[in-house]
Parts: sequence; C-alpha cells; structure tokens
Amino acid sequence: MNLLDQLARTTGAVRPESAPSDPGAGAAAVCSRKGCRADAQWQLLWNNPRIHTPERRKIWLACDEHRGWLEDYLQTRDLWKQTLPLSGAPAPTDNGSGTA
Ligand SMILES: [Zn+2]
Repeated sequence: MNLLDQLARTTGAVRPESAPSDPGAGAAAVCSRKGCRADAQWQLLWNNPRIHTPERRKIWLACDEHRGWLEDYLQTRDLWKQTLPLSGAPAPTDNGSGTA
C-alpha cells in the first residue's frame, strides 16, 4: 500500500461530471456509461500516468452503443490503452462469414 498513491487518488483524481463508475468485483457486466444499463460487450483498459503506476490498468465496461463514446472520452485525455472484447460475452455475429 502506497500512501502517496492513495493521496493522489483522493485529491488528484479526474472527476468529470459524467465519470462512469468502476465496475466492482462480482458486479454484473453492465456498461459503465452513466445511466446505461445495457450488458457490456467490451472492456476498455486505461491508465492515468499521473495517479497510476504504468503497468496498472483500470477497466471500464461498455456496451456496443457506448464503446465509441467511452473510447473517445479516454483518448481525449490520453488515458486509453486498449479495448478488448469482454470475455464470456456472446460475440456479435457481424464478421460477415456466411457459414452457420
Ligand atoms: Zn452503454
């Protein structure tokens, strides 16, 4: 446990008005976009170098509709690292392969 890191988290954290809530452990996989209750299809990995160690990854969950919104939100702030399909979620069949 690092006291400085804790301080940074409480005093220097970015708290925009529309900050999505962190998905808690064991919580249902629901989109992190405020007010959205859709099932999450994606996980957005991000890191704030001002308050996180470089290897640390925060994860937001996103439904298809808000994936782009949340990516843009993080990319605008230089926090975005990676977007991955949420493991365990049924993959959308939009890859065009016609075999059933
Ligand atoms: Zn959503």
